[in-house]
Amino acid sequence: MTRTDDDSWDITESVGATALGVAMARAAETLSARPLFVDRFAQWFIDAAITAGWQPSFSVSATDVPDADPALVEQLQRRVQSIWGYAAARTKHFDDFFTSAGAAGIRQVVILAAGLDARAWRLPWVTDTIVYEIDQPKVLEFKADTLRAHNARAVANDIAVPIDLRQDWPIALRAAGFDTSQPTAWLAEGLLPYLPSAGQDLLFERVQQLSAPDSRIAVEAFGNEYFDEEKIQERRAKMQEVRNAAAKAGRQTTDVSELFFNEPHADVADWLRDHGWEVGSTTSAELLARHKRVPASDIPDAGSVFVEGLRLTGP
Ligand code: SAM
Repeated sequence: MTRTDDDSWDITESVGATALGVAMARAAETLSARPLFVDRFAQWFIDAAITAGWQPSFSVSATDVPDADPALVEQLQRRVQSIWGYAAARTKHFDDFFTSAGAAGIRQVVILAAGLDARAWRLPWVTDTIVYEIDQPKVLEFKADTLRAHNARAVANDIAVPIDLRQDWPIALRAAGFDTSQPTAWLAEGLLPYLPSAGQDLLFERVQQLSAPDSRIAVEAFGNEYFDEEKIQERRAKMQEVRNAAAKAGRQTTDVSELFFNEPHADVADWLRDHGWEVGSTTSAELLARHKRVPASDIPDAGSVFVEGLRLTGP
């Protein structure tokens, strides 16, 4: 699972499969007693991937692994619940961001690393809103094929921009119709650790160049301390415990942090502030408490900050 500067993937491979992990969380939230949102598309993606031979790495049902030690199964279930709770709270947070952006008059949206995000299909977009979705070509192809197989129609005007975010995506975005004179609502959810530090800097420089005044941005960011060697080792050790438990319960798990570029990344809130954005932040602890999910203190990898920015000046 070693990353390289120009690696690429299909939906069931490497970083591509993390989009399926998020879809699993959204499908579970949709079926829960009091869901924060309804994403009926998520299960379609899971079903299509399983049909194509993908195996979800976690088991949350003791009946899936009948011989497993119940304590181990419970440990895994707790872990899965915490990850899914985090993903659900995060999804709700960014759903609300887009609702506010629409109410503020923004009609142009760019979802960076869209993966299997179904917001263009499931949110009540204001008429004429355009949603550009950027991700690797095979990921977007899988998404389009699955949605087509179900005759799904997007609510917004959805435009796929299949390109790696380390390549010259602004050219591809403009060629797809993106209008630099219009304010944009940008989203980076579940993306930044998969970019090298220099790649993150370049991403924000490009967003800056493309953002008209009144543009907004929402980012799941990871502070510098998240990539402290000590923290990285702490998370690895915790994950190893989970992997051992999973192996004993007859399951293999993926440690997504092996796909991260584990190096110090710029502080996103500081970066935006320094570049003329008005910035607000919500910690993952605040977000999880707001939605009554597993507390962040119980999730070793929930050291994220949800940053929102409003562009005050032009490019
Ligand atoms: N944002 C989506 C969501 O929340 O449902 C997907 C999140 S998933 C954890 C990570 C996504 O980032 C994958 O779809 C992957 O293909 C995409 N990604 C990561 N690095 C990328 C890159 N360099 N270029 C394009 N897409 C990338």
